[in-house]
Amino acid sequence: MSHARDVTDVVIVGGGAAGLSLAHALTVPGAGRPVSVALVETPRPSLRPAERTWCFWQVGPGDFDDALVASWRRLRVRGRDGEVVEGELEALRYRMLRSDRFEALVGSRLAALPHVRLVEATAETVRNVAGGAEALCVTAEGDRITLRGRHLFDSRPGQSLPPARTTLLQHFRGWFVRTSAAAFDDEVVELMDFRVPQPAHGLAFGYVLPLGPKDALVEYTQFSRAPLSHLEYEAALERYTRDILRLGPFEVRSVEAGVIPMTDARFARRIGTAVHRIGAVGGATRPATGYTFSAVQRQSKAVAAALRDGKKVRLTAPHGRRALAMDAVMLRALDTGRVNGSDFFTRLFRRMPAERVLRFLDGSSGLWEDMRLGFATPVGPMLRTAVELPFLQRRPFPLTREESTG
Ligand SMILES: Cc1cc2nc3c(=O)[nH]c(=O)nc-3n(C[C@H](O)[C@H](O)[C@H](O)COP(=O)(O)OP(=O)(O)OC[C@H]3O[C@@H](n4cnc5c(N)ncnc54)[C@H](O)[C@@H]3O)c2cc1C
Repeated sequence: MSHARDVTDVVIVGGGAAGLSLAHALTVPGAGRPVSVALVETPRPSLRPAERTWCFWQVGPGDFDDALVASWRRLRVRGRDGEVVEGELEALRYRMLRSDRFEALVGSRLAALPHVRLVEATAETVRNVAGGAEALCVTAEGDRITLRGRHLFDSRPGQSLPPARTTLLQHFRGWFVRTSAAAFDDEVVELMDFRVPQPAHGLAFGYVLPLGPKDALVEYTQFSRAPLSHLEYEAALERYTRDILRLGPFEVRSVEAGVIPMTDARFARRIGTAVHRIGAVGGATRPATGYTFSAVQRQSKAVAAALRDGKKVRLTAPHGRRALAMDAVMLRALDTGRVNGSDFFTRLFRRMPAERVLRFLDGSSGLWEDMRLGFATPVGPMLRTAVELPFLQRRPFPLTREESTG
């Protein structure tokens, strides 16, 4: 068993969405003074997340366009009774990336850079030390490595969530389908289709990402307190694709499933002086929706700018206070059953342009826009919930392994 020690400006633990995005932002051409980076990703299959789809929205070209699978300029929501609410996204495009393509694109770029070291090892301990922080790692062969940096960014998923007033799970299973006959309108992404039977608690919807006239990712999603069994998801997808979408004959080419906590917990972003938490474990997941990818990009760019300008690195909050407060009310109103989830979202998209809702979810809308959005929700139950929130206790929420790694 050998022991090696390496020193760089920045150590990043975890090469998923947040780790790779930060390494990319720190080293992208034009990022200024080269920053030396060590990025450590575990070789242990039990710790690595399954391949996944990341959707987000953006104006204009982006850094990861070469890894895009599809993008859409129209968005549709369907109410329980089949009411169709459809809108243009103006300059925004709803985009879909696959994690394997993203990892290959960013990973190969990083591998070619002399000041970046990609380390295949499992970080066992992360700690602050004089002048920075270090990660104590072990390779698949059992060799021990210490990676030391002035700053360390840790994206390893946690075993539990911080205490919260409300925690729901967004849990889903999806099929990549190929139909025999043309069945999809590949101009429009179907964000929420509430025609599926609604659960007693929370809400359920179909989500359709068309990739061509005969190809799509079709998902069944619930926001509720616990995931379903494998058989229950399969039955729900079967019903959605056959009875509601009426796809006709099709083959399932691959499957995607996941669990994303939706919580009003407060996530610590800094542990000691030089250890920072990024990604989902650092609170980048938007409580009301589970979207994480865009917040990760915003945070990565802010860290890169601070390092470039020689400023003290302080991770900016992934989401603004007003957005978090509004999300906390929404989660609680949903959890208590004070608002009906499917009606809530259908009404929101009916009353507000889709583009404005998406901008709110990315934190780029102003105070007046957010107030108008608030008034597009059922004001009475939401106000009652807002008044109650400060008096509620925050409680911990343990995660199963499946829930903590998605
Ligand atoms: C199936 C699924 C679909 C999703 N879809 C979307 C979406 O469409 N849009 C969106 O915005 N968000 C989505 N999310 C939420 C979120 O974007 C993802 O969970 C995202 O992967 C979070 O990024 P992360 O870097 O925090 O975590 P991860 O991407 O999980 O990265 C953590 C990394 O740390 C590594 N690691 C773990 N332990 C160790 C260790 N001890 N040492 C070294 N490395 C370690 C893991 O192998 C992994 O690569 C989705 C989540 C899931 C589960």
